[in-house]
Amino acid sequence: MKQADQIIHARWIVPVVPYQTVLENHALVIQREQIVALLPSSEVNSSYQAKTTQTLADHVLIPGLINAHSHTAMTLLRGLADDLPLMRWLNDYIWPAEDKWVSEAFVADGTDLAIAEMLLSGTTCVNDMYFNPDIAAERFAKAGFRATVGLVISDNPTAWARSQDEYFAKALDVAEQYKSHPLINTAFAPHAPYTVSDKPFRRIATLAEQIQIPIHVHVHESEDEITGSLKHYGVRPIERLKNLGILGPSTIAVHLTQLNDEDIATLAKYAVNAVHCPESNLKLASGFSPVKKMLNAGINIALGTDGAASNNDLDMLGEMKTAALLAKAVAHDAAAVSAHRVLQMATINGAKALGLANETGSLEVGKKADIVAVNMNDVSCQPLDNPVSQLIYSSSRNQVSDVWIAGNHLLNERQLTTVDVASTIEKAKNWRKRIHHE
Ligand SMILES: [Zn+2]
Repeated sequence: MKQADQIIHARWIVPVVPYQTVLENHALVIQREQIVALLPSSEVNSSYQAKTTQTLADHVLIPGLINAHSHTAMTLLRGLADDLPLMRWLNDYIWPAEDKWVSEAFVADGTDLAIAEMLLSGTTCVNDMYFNPDIAAERFAKAGFRATVGLVISDNPTAWARSQDEYFAKALDVAEQYKSHPLINTAFAPHAPYTVSDKPFRRIATLAEQIQIPIHVHVHESEDEITGSLKHYGVRPIERLKNLGILGPSTIAVHLTQLNDEDIATLAKYAVNAVHCPESNLKLASGFSPVKKMLNAGINIALGTDGAASNNDLDMLGEMKTAALLAKAVAHDAAAVSAHRVLQMATINGAKALGLANETGSLEVGKKADIVAVNMNDVSCQPLDNPVSQLIYSSSRNQVSDVWIAGNHLLNERQLTTVDVASTIEKAKNWRKRIHHE
């Protein structure tokens, strides 16, 4: 008889790898932070004895959802400026608010609020891009949440860094500090082609290669970005990034709403990872990402919510439904993105984009136990024949009952075990008073 820490029996398990697999009445066996077995429930008891055993009779277990693009601390700017196009939203509202309010305390409290919202909606890993990544990393580590924190680089002086040299020095410090942390990874995060000039982009290309971390950047988000680039640089942003050595298999390109066939061919040729953020693109009226065309070109597409100031939530279950529906409409093809395909985008594809596919993104033996249980015994999901269809098209985030990250039970029957919800809400209310009334 083998010893284990936990056994979780579930009505359904969707491991995502292999693709389109739905296992009925199976169990996951966990030892420390790792999945050590995935077996039919009837066979587990003859091989394993565990300290804790749980039976989730009405639930589907899926890999923890990976939000491949967010600005987590921006939860504190949720609802600040609605119904505006990207550049007016940024120039007239978001950047002035950030100039005024971003501080270590803002990032700490905003990150905590985001962690609570993400855990309660089944997200176990986030690719973050915000100021004070040092503070964000501390909050993620303290909560036991998996995160890739973005080492922000911009031409604009901010409270985080006043000069290029300061941006780079701080970035390299944070990268060094977390280079062997079990939950926290880092990525260079040049904000966008319109806020970062050639010299820092070249420096990022060299450093990212040296210290082997990804590059996370907004690319082709709106039409203005393309027009501006043609005016200033004589080429489209993707062409410019290619010439600067930024494009490669460790590049995470976010948004991609303005793509011609040549852009798609370049992204495919350089094996760039795409992150699709449908709800943010819809809300800012930025444009439509040609998801089906990118899939046909063999591009790895992950899914992100973007920040809560342009979404306005961090709900990856909702984002999956929007992504599936929007892709069908844009391609005029109801089969463009299926429920299984969008679940793959929100899990293993996100892990691949972040360079974490050996650790997370699927429920396979040897992977970290990043697991989400969704209770399907809900009126919205009845009658239930196909759990993946109901999960994507009919369920809501309130049905997420339990979440484990690296084997730690961080959401237990909808109770957070590492985040104090009452004090997190209280702090958010205090920020609202200051931000909206001063
Ligand atoms: Zn963004």
